[in-house]
Amino acid sequence: MTLRTNLARLQRLPVAARLKLANLLTSGVVIFLAGFLLLGVQVYLSGTALLEQTRTEAEMTGENLSAAMVFDDRKSGTDILASLKAFTNVVHATVRMQDGTLFATYHRSGLPETIAPPLAQETYTLTLTRLRVAKSIEFHGQKLGTIQLETELVAAYRRIAWYVLLVSIIMFTSLYLAHVVLARLQRFVTEPLLALAKTSQTISHQGDFSIRAEVNAADDIGLLAGAFNTMLDRIEKRESELENEINERKHVERKLDRLAHFDSVTGLHNRYFFNDRLSAVVARAQKQNERAVVMFLDLDNFKTVNDTLGHATGDELLRVVAERLRGCLRFGDTISRIGGDEFAMILENVTSSQIGERIAEKCLEALSGVIHVEQNEIYISGSIGISTCPDDAIDMHALLKFADTAMYYAKSAGKNTYRLFTNSMQGDAQKRFLMNGNLRRALEREEFVLHYQPQIDLTTGKIVGVEALLRWSHPDLGIISPLDFIPVAEETGLIIPIGTWVLQAACRQLKMWHDQGMLHLRMAINLSGRQLKEDNFVRVVLDIISATGVRPDSIELELTESMLMEVGEHTIDKLKALRAAGILLAIDDFGTGYSSMSYLKRFPINTLKVDRSFVCDLPDNLQDVAITKAIISMAHSLDLHVVAEGIETSAQEALLISHGCNSGQGFHYSKPVPASQIAILLAAETEPAAGYSSLMPAA
Ligand code: C2E
Ligand code: CA
Ligand code: CA
Repeated sequence: MTLRTNLARLQRLPVAARLKLANLLTSGVVIFLAGFLLLGVQVYLSGTALLEQTRTEAEMTGENLSAAMVFDDRKSGTDILASLKAFTNVVHATVRMQDGTLFATYHRSGLPETIAPPLAQETYTLTLTRLRVAKSIEFHGQKLGTIQLETELVAAYRRIAWYVLLVSIIMFTSLYLAHVVLARLQRFVTEPLLALAKTSQTISHQGDFSIRAEVNAADDIGLLAGAFNTMLDRIEKRESELENEINERKHVERKLDRLAHFDSVTGLHNRYFFNDRLSAVVARAQKQNERAVVMFLDLDNFKTVNDTLGHATGDELLRVVAERLRGCLRFGDTISRIGGDEFAMILENVTSSQIGERIAEKCLEALSGVIHVEQNEIYISGSIGISTCPDDAIDMHALLKFADTAMYYAKSAGKNTYRLFTNSMQGDAQKRFLMNGNLRRALEREEFVLHYQPQIDLTTGKIVGVEALLRWSHPDLGIISPLDFIPVAEETGLIIPIGTWVLQAACRQLKMWHDQGMLHLRMAINLSGRQLKEDNFVRVVLDIISATGVRPDSIELELTESMLMEVGEHTIDKLKALRAAGILLAIDDFGTGYSSMSYLKRFPINTLKVDRSFVCDLPDNLQDVAITKAIISMAHSLDLHVVAEGIETSAQEALLISHGCNSGQGFHYSKPVPASQIAILLAAETEPAAGYSSLMPAA
């Protein structure tokens, strides 16, 4: 196991265990060092004592031998040496004369009689087992020879061993005592820490921030506990603030929910609630094989009441109507106000669509009585459309659409009646007829918007104008193209109010851009033939221009060839009046109709717009190249400005430039976009590096 894993394991131990380990290690090292030091001292002392003792023994024996040596009495010498037997530690003894000859020897019994080599006088040698000491023998100051004693160290070793044993016992006892004492002392430190840890654990388990750590210490742990408790105070406070905030938010949400689901005028549910409810009902009806009926009721001529008697009366009327309709339904059925004067109902779990008819009759009956609002006596009626799930559709959107369709049939049948939806109501002619009704509503509800497509000066590459293009922003179907609804609007005459709206909106927008400093910008506005036929057309246009304050020479009205063909001299006068006021006139889709040089001369026209169909095959279709070239040169010879429509590629642009076309318009520069995007494109022009294609927003 590596050092690192050991360290890691150590770090995982609890604080108490780590503290204990550190304490034991420190006291252990101290105690062992002290023991070894003592032992060393003891060994040294025993050694010197043994040396001293052996020297004394040698000296005493030497003194006893001196007489025998003077008389060279070797026998007595040997006897004297034999007395060394008394010293059990002496194993050998050798006495030499001054000339080095042996005088006497002694060997402890049982040991081999080896003679150790002589040592220098007054010295000693020490091996692991033996100590040899040499001492000179003198007599009255005269040197006689040397005595050499060799002693065993066994006894000394035994003593040291005992000593080691004793020291060890003392060391371990002290270590144990140190451990016991430290363990007690340590508790002062660890106990408050453990208490803190336990408190925080309890808090995190129970989520109860009112618990506090109880540590009564004045030291840093006390400080830590204090800080911990302060932190808990803060958390608890924050917690309660948060709870209040959440409650407050829930309250607001409930309120918003009411607003989102209820209609403030009548107190009925609103469209959002109705849609939710309908999707649930449809799902349940399918699952449980039930039948449900959707009814649409649109009040007849409510707008007149509102316009003549005012909104307050209108609102009051709606409240009464809501009340009466509610009275016609069973408990559990749904009624909502889903639009200005539109109510929708869901009848759940009915046996047949006849129930729907019965309720419809009841509703019409309920509305038929006079309604008193303030001093007014109001008579109101409604038209009702009915669709049934699953008979007509099992999809909620289809059910809604069908009920709406049926309602328009009821209206066209003379109002104040109801119609059940039938498949035959979906024909094309009917759709137009329905579209007409829808268009009227779209105008009332301001569902029309204008998008703008830039017109580029082909010589400078800058935006010089925009063409206003109408869109219908349908609440359910999204953006609807003018190609889909303008024919219907023209057929039904609705194009007149719609066209007026377009003129107003476009002029207002242009005025805004001019006020923002984009003074060079022109606005091209499409006209319908029916608008031009209106007697007051010129008046309407001029009024709008003066009301919005826009410069007349920045407005260009686009007319088609067919429009000009249809109308007579009378129209020419109108166009002249418009021109006289400074308004510019353009011929749109030039080349597609009955192109005649004669009318170009007769009508006071400023601009020709080359139709997209000639531009789209440029530059490959040589015939189109020739036609385009001819149109441009003819227009220039009549002093007309030429705009090419539908430029989608730089090749088309290049060809048009080479033939001297003045302006261009098309997806190559930008699709028709909302006004806000035009501002972005214009702003980008002031940055020299940016081109249109890099900024082209999605249509
Ligand atoms: P228009 O006046 O010829 O308008 C040009 C149409 O060509 C626009 O279609 C425009 O989106 C489309 N277009 C522009 N550049 C390109 C291109 O590079 N490639 C292709 N493929 N198409 C391009 P939009 O907006 O759908 O308008 C269709 C028509 O509806 C218009 O044709 C105009 O006749 C009519 N219209 C639009 N707005 C009004 C309006 O306010 N009043 C009247 N009376 N008619 C309008
Ligand atoms: Ca146009
Ligand atoms: Ca056109």
